[in-house]
Amino acid sequence: MKLILLGAPGAGKGTQAEIISKELNIPTISTGDMIREALKSGTEMGLKAKSYMESGALVPDEVVIGIVKDRIALDDCKNGFILDGFPRTIPQAEALDSMGVDIDLVLDIEVKDEVIVKRMSGRRVCEKCGKTYHTESKPSKIEGVCDVCTGALIQRKDDQIETVKTRLETYHKETEPLKDYYDAQGKLKIVVGKDTIEATKELVMAALK
Ligand code: ADP
Ligand code: ZN
Repeated sequence: MKLILLGAPGAGKGTQAEIISKELNIPTISTGDMIREALKSGTEMGLKAKSYMESGALVPDEVVIGIVKDRIALDDCKNGFILDGFPRTIPQAEALDSMGVDIDLVLDIEVKDEVIVKRMSGRRVCEKCGKTYHTESKPSKIEGVCDVCTGALIQRKDDQIETVKTRLETYHKETEPLKDYYDAQGKLKIVVGKDTIEATKELVMAALK
């Protein structure tokens, strides 16, 4: 199964990708994670991507297209894969088509902007161990302190409200047109994201059948 997960930042693509990956035993390819790793290890690509990412803008197409092309050529992708966060623009989708990759299904997880803003602006992450919390839905026992390692809880720069708004604007402008693109290929299915991971998972799994 070659699957694309579409949806706004914060719609829960990453979480659902993890679940599907275990159920179907195929790898998830998250361009966001790959770029963050490159950034951490200080590669040239990481340095190039840094300013775009931190401001909520998209990294240039040719950079991400290159990453994905190399990644899907690896052995573990031969039985299929889940693309999480790619393609995000029409040129990226066209590049995928011209690589000859035959996508089976494009699953769009729909969540309203207001809900996303609320979710993302409450997200906190432990500076030390990376565990994530939410000020409303998943608070730490002591405010601002990690339950696991007592590290400080911080807000990721790209989760700050102004950046979230920029990311949503970018999504509507650059990524949402992909729904029509894949609908025209007869590959699009829409799932309405629910309040809990479990409830959304049920719908996602049903859509995969
Ligand atoms: P989210 O889905 O929450 O926005 P990601 O982890 O998928 O987060 O992506 C974080 C950032 O990485 C994006 O805001 C963008 O700058 C960059 N990025 C990830 N995937 C792509 C892509 N396909 N094209 C361009 N930029 C990307
Ligand atoms: Zn911690």
